[in-house]
Amino acid sequence: MNLFKREKSTQSPNNQGSLAEVTLNAIHDGVIMTDKNGIVEYINPAAATMTNIGAPTNALKLSYDTVIKLESKEGRELSETENPLTNAMKTNQPLESFRGSLIVNKTDKRIPIAVSVLPVNGLSQNRIITFRNITKELEEEGEQTEFISTASHEMRTPVATIDGYLSLSLNPQTATIDERARGYLTAAQAASKHLGKLFQDLLDVTKLDDGRIRPNFTPVEMVGLVKMITDDYLNRAKEAKINFTFGSNEPTSVGGLNRRMEQVVYGFVDTDFMREILDNLIDNAIKYTPAGGSIYINVRGDGDRALINVTDTGIGISADNLSHIFQKFYRADNSDTRTIGGNGLGLYLVKQRVEAMGGKVWAESAFGEGSTFYVSLPRITSNEYEKRMIAVRQAEIANQLQPAPKPVPQPAIPNIPAPQPAPVPQPTPQPAPVPQPTPPTPSQPAPPTPPQPAPPTAPQPQPVQNQINNNNVNGEVK
Ligand code: ADP
Repeated sequence: MNLFKREKSTQSPNNQGSLAEVTLNAIHDGVIMTDKNGIVEYINPAAATMTNIGAPTNALKLSYDTVIKLESKEGRELSETENPLTNAMKTNQPLESFRGSLIVNKTDKRIPIAVSVLPVNGLSQNRIITFRNITKELEEEGEQTEFISTASHEMRTPVATIDGYLSLSLNPQTATIDERARGYLTAAQAASKHLGKLFQDLLDVTKLDDGRIRPNFTPVEMVGLVKMITDDYLNRAKEAKINFTFGSNEPTSVGGLNRRMEQVVYGFVDTDFMREILDNLIDNAIKYTPAGGSIYINVRGDGDRALINVTDTGIGISADNLSHIFQKFYRADNSDTRTIGGNGLGLYLVKQRVEAMGGKVWAESAFGEGSTFYVSLPRITSNEYEKRMIAVRQAEIANQLQPAPKPVPQPAIPNIPAPQPAPVPQPTPQPAPVPQPTPPTPSQPAPPTPPQPAPPTAPQPQPVQNQINNNNVNGEVK
């Protein structure tokens, strides 16, 4: 198909072909049109400049992937299967605004771009690739992220102080209050906890957005890792009267015999990210599943991917909401969810962490029946796992053999009196009928800071037995 084919008689600038050409020549977005085999048939000047291919005619008859080469936005090489541009071009499916880095030809420069693919229907099966430079957009987002991160950091401290005083007020050993006041203060404490969680989640989300944290990849056995993390939820599920199962219940029928298959699935992941991902998915599964329901978690190898699913028989998600739940602050609004607390950041964080490890996350759900969240991550072979483990051990040994740093001479320590333990604050009776919260004044002693949960430690999983179905041909038959 030639967009610009013109009849001799229609050369006036008013005809559609010329207008399209004038527009495509003028815009700053890159546009490439290929045939169904991905061979470039048209490239506009902006695309030729951004890719550094030289004159647009240089690109004609070349395969699109020699003109436009992508890396992940973190600068990681994208394998053929995880490159969304390659997938969209091969399958003739649309791709919407994938953010990656354009490798500028003949230089080591990278340009952050958002790339889309639009398949042209009909016999020609042309594909149109459009991409735009998002450097400015990222800078603006970076400023926003920095603001949110600083604001949440600053606000966490006063919220913890308020929460501390509310705990003291509600503790019969430190305060005497009547039942009505207890009700008000309990509601205030629930709100302050919600605020504290919101600020913590905002901080966690911005950490990856602004590059303060990057995935720290380690070779792991995935089944053991996921089981170890999910085991922490056994008690919470029991308290909520929810059945909690890791792996499938039924033995697999192999060759007519009921046998168990042990599948060992290796991955190369950030174990802290894995904990955050599973914490959010399981926390949601428990939150959105009424008592008497069930949660099933499974891990299996699926070709070159490790596939984890968290399935629940809870309230489910309507089709309208399903396409939005991974957006920042999105909460499905219905009579069931209104009474369940949350801030709509958990699944955004899950998506962000999964994608940073080169994975994908999606959900399937039937409203009123339950949901399944899938996390698919790149899988490595047992050989790769062994090699990477050896590299990890060698790095550890090398670290241990490093000479200890020479002690830096310290200045003489002045004679400072030992600090006195802070006295427990005494409650001041408030005669006013409506409770007026009194903010702590600087002369008051600081309230005890609420206990902080211990940071998750990097787990060292052991392979555990995981029962899988017949399809999982990579398993070993026991
Ligand atoms: P929240 O803090 O609101 O739970 P999330 O980002 O974790 O935020 O989830 C976004 C929305 O997706 C939730 O408000 C809820 O409507 C829906 N959701 C997430 N997980 C489930 C689930 N397991 N079952 C039903 N709805 C869910």
